[in-house]
Amino acid sequence: MMDFDASLLVRENIRNMKPYSTAREEFSGEAAVFLDANENAFGSPLPAAFNRYPDPYQLELKKKIGSIKGLPAQNIFLGNGSDEAIDLLFRIFCEPGKDNAIIFPPTYGMYEVSAATNDVLLKEIALTNMFQIDLETLESAIDDRTKLIFICSPNNPTGNSIDRESVLMILNNFNGIVVVDEAYINYSRQRSFIAELTEYPNLVLLQTFSKAWGLAALRLGMAFASQVIIDYFNKVKYPYNIGLATQQLALQALDQVSTINEWTRQTVEQREWLAAELQRTPFTKTVFPSDANFLLIRIDQAHELWHYLVVKGIIVRDRSRVSLCEDCLRITIGTMNENQQLLEAIKSFYA
Ligand SMILES: *Cc1c(COP(=O)(O)O)cnc(C)c1O
Repeated sequence: MMDFDASLLVRENIRNMKPYSTAREEFSGEAAVFLDANENAFGSPLPAAFNRYPDPYQLELKKKIGSIKGLPAQNIFLGNGSDEAIDLLFRIFCEPGKDNAIIFPPTYGMYEVSAATNDVLLKEIALTNMFQIDLETLESAIDDRTKLIFICSPNNPTGNSIDRESVLMILNNFNGIVVVDEAYINYSRQRSFIAELTEYPNLVLLQTFSKAWGLAALRLGMAFASQVIIDYFNKVKYPYNIGLATQQLALQALDQVSTINEWTRQTVEQREWLAAELQRTPFTKTVFPSDANFLLIRIDQAHELWHYLVVKGIIVRDRSRVSLCEDCLRITIGTMNENQQLLEAIKSFYA
């Protein structure tokens, strides 16, 4: 990997294009009169400088995230959810109608949607029945048009982590971009691949404020990668992709790491409790081991149970028609009270 150059994988039009230059970038320094961006000089109807365009690179926020994650700001991209980063990866690296990407289903649905929007062929290599990557089949699927491999770990909807050795094997041998989606990493027994970023210039990590951070409505996702790759993200993104409100609110949220850690601890505790309770019932066939904030369970009459729970006002995700997830429901871990209600409702369905 030492001679890896991400620029060589980038689409030619993206490599050669000139990015939009914002008024904010053309001038930096001290000034009192800003008449360069056609903003409203009289003010904002809201109690903050919303009349001014925000920092296009969100530097203050990136520095604060970086201090928590142990990363410099230039290795961080922020997007309108991780979904923006996923879409940008296709737009930067995949020539529509020519290049391809690889996913390991059952997995997160957005990779497929983004591939389709960008007219990129997606090769699907099913996980094994242990929900791990089949490295031999992967090797035979990779060709010289394969630009991206998406590894979701912990994986949605199965909940398990992908074996670290498999991820390292792919990082060491694949001459394209390896995306590791760590949306659920806070709940995992496995450690993040952040420490591996310096060693692997082909690694892109995705994390999000939508899960453990409790900010799904804010729409803020993170990508961590080598500076070369982050520079391409910045080149292609909308100039002001993260609004000032989001930047300010995220900065406030980052002061509450201890609350987030406590909620994460309780979620994991509840996950283990619910897993044990469900396992104890005769109608549960399998509770799959989870490193995430949800459980995948295989249970008798899964679809009928799902419907019964809906009528009771309890909504879980019916995955019973997803390949390898036959007869399975995906259950997000709630509060202790919610989890107890769920368990009672499930028991009453079979009673
Ligand atoms: C929930 C989830 C995300 C988060 O997406 P956002 O756009 O940041 O809300 C990313 N990846 C996976 C696998 C997820 O399950």
